[in-house]
Amino acid sequence: MAGCKLVYREAGPPVRLEIAGGRACIGPGCRPLIVAGPCSVEDPDMIRETALFIRRLLVDTLGYSNVVLRGGAWKPRTSPYSFQGHGARALEWLREAGDAAGLPVATEVMDPRDVKLAAEYVDVLWVGARNMQNTPLLRELAKTGKPVLLKRHFGATVEEWLCAAEYLLAGGNEQVALVERGTRGFNEYARFSLDITVVPVVKKLSRLPVLVDVSHPAGRRELVPPLAAAALAAGADGVMVEVHPNPDKALSDAKQQLPFRMFEEMARELLERGLLPR
Ligand code: PEP
Ligand code: MN
Repeated sequence: MAGCKLVYREAGPPVRLEIAGGRACIGPGCRPLIVAGPCSVEDPDMIRETALFIRRLLVDTLGYSNVVLRGGAWKPRTSPYSFQGHGARALEWLREAGDAAGLPVATEVMDPRDVKLAAEYVDVLWVGARNMQNTPLLRELAKTGKPVLLKRHFGATVEEWLCAAEYLLAGGNEQVALVERGTRGFNEYARFSLDITVVPVVKKLSRLPVLVDVSHPAGRRELVPPLAAAALAAGADGVMVEVHPNPDKALSDAKQQLPFRMFEEMARELLERGLLPR
C-alpha cells in the first residue's frame, strides 16, 4: 500500500455524491446514474439537441431521472492537430443546454488553471484517464467541493487509482466517484479492455462509488450496449455513455458515439432487463 487511507472502506461510511442540490446522485440509495452526452461540445445547437433528446427519452418517456448531461469542453487528444475543444465557450453552451433540458451537467478539466471557471458552470467535474495522476489538478479540484468523477488511467493499478482519489479526499473533498474506462490489453478488436473485475474489487476495498464509461473501451458503437449491461450487472453505480445527434460527423470519437436511435434501444433494453433497478 502506498500510504493512502481515506478512500478505504474502513475509513468511514460509503460515500454518496449529491449532484446539483440532490437532482441526481451516485451511491447508496440512488438508482444507477446515467451520464450521457457527446464526446465534445461542438456547438450550441448540437449540445442543446442532445440534452433535449436525453431529457425527453429518459425522464419524460421512461420515467428515469437520475441523469447527468456530459460534454467535453477541453479535449485530451492524441494528436495536437485534432480538435481540442472549444474551451470556456463550450462551458456556456453546455450550461445553457442543461438548463433548457432541466439536466445537471458534467465536463472534463485537464488544466488546474481552468478548474475555478469550470466549477462555476458545471455540476460535476471529471478527470480524464490521461490526467488521473495530475496531482496539481486533483488538489485544485479538491478545493471546489464539487462532485468529481475520477477516471482510471488505462495503465494504472487499482492502488494507483485509489491513491489518486486520496488526493481529493485529503484535500477536503469527499464527493468523489471512480470511473473505470478500460485498460490496455490484448484485444485488438476493441479500443481498450474493459476491466469489469474492478467494479466488485473497488466496491469491496473502497468507500467510493464506481461508474463505468462504456464508450471509450468499446471504440465502436455496436459494442457499447453489451458493455453497459455488463457494467450494471456487475454492480456499477452508473454508466457513462457518449451519444451524438450525428456521430459519423462528430469532431471526436466518431466511431463509438451512439446515434439517438441506438441510445434509445439500449436504454429500453437495460430497463426491460432490470439492469436499471428502482
Ligand atoms: C472522454 O470522456 O471523452 C474521454 C476523453 O475519456 P478518457 O479520459 O476516459 O479517455
Ligand atoms: Mn470521447
